[in-house]
Amino acid sequence: MKALVLEDIAKLTYKDVPDPVLKQGEVMLKIKACGICSSDIPRIFKTGTYHFPTVPGHEFSGEIIDCASDVDKSLIGQRAVAFPLLPCGKCNSCLEEEYSRCSDYNYFGSRCDGAFAEYLAVPVWNIVTFSDRIPYTTAALCEPASVAKHCVDKGQIKNTDTVTVIGTGTIGFLAALWTRSMGAKKVIVVGRNEKKLEFAKKLGIEFTINMAEENFAEKFSEIMDNNGSDVVLECVGSVSAVENSIKFAKKGGRIVLTGNPEGDISLNKDIYWKILRNELTVTGSWNSSYKSDINNWKETTAALEDGSLDIAGLITQKFPLEKYEEALTTIRDHNIFSVKVMFEI
Ligand SMILES: [Zn+2]
Ligand SMILES: [Zn+2]
Repeated sequence: MKALVLEDIAKLTYKDVPDPVLKQGEVMLKIKACGICSSDIPRIFKTGTYHFPTVPGHEFSGEIIDCASDVDKSLIGQRAVAFPLLPCGKCNSCLEEEYSRCSDYNYFGSRCDGAFAEYLAVPVWNIVTFSDRIPYTTAALCEPASVAKHCVDKGQIKNTDTVTVIGTGTIGFLAALWTRSMGAKKVIVVGRNEKKLEFAKKLGIEFTINMAEENFAEKFSEIMDNNGSDVVLECVGSVSAVENSIKFAKKGGRIVLTGNPEGDISLNKDIYWKILRNELTVTGSWNSSYKSDINNWKETTAALEDGSLDIAGLITQKFPLEKYEEALTTIRDHNIFSVKVMFEI
């Protein structure tokens, strides 16, 4: 099959590789779409994967075309997405079904081969099927949408709550759309890129604030009726985003930190003090829930099926695998507007 193989840092090649071979308990997915995650950019160009060579790609959807002898044959022909984390199943977190906290996991697209390829063998445990009402490209957004749902759940949002989302990346937009679909009183998206904020409006987010504008603080308190936000979802991972989430939270408010930090996060004393004096609840959020009772992947596919979550508009560019250079340039070149860039395979 054809695949994009990361052979060294910044050395991605489109080439023939052996087809994956089914093991017991697995299904074979013919990959139809795979999103490029913002985490794939440093993975490809800066840090590398855990070993070389690796096929990146963890945000995928596909058709089940074959399955191992111990797997239900009726799955063949169905459409599926897959939770990309392969937990050990033995550690304390796994026993609590908190798989994203597993201490010895494998991961498609970073620790083992992923879906920038034509085929991928996936344990049947990891797949969630969906109907042909959902296009494969939209379904490939299930991974970031599940990560965003997990973050929103950590905020324990009620319909009387005002919610501020800091960040205009895929997770920020998805968190805002989930929050809105769950009926929060007000949702504000905060960012610095005017084009991204206009895009948020087009997605149906009523309130946006550009931090680059001088009067942003006044604008914020005007929208919030001179109060802070009940919940702040931090989806950037920078010092200023963390500081702002502390500033924007109301007294007794809740903050969910979900942006991946690019470097150290240190806070000055006055900001730190606000956590104490305002008695803020600060929670981390990592990956998504795949528990038997709370499964963000099933929640996402169900919301896409019934139309309560409309996220297809996040896909701004699609490329075939062989146009990978153009696809990566689209994300890295800040003169090109992009939100979610995706391979359609
Ligand atoms: Zn991702
Ligand atoms: Zn584990």
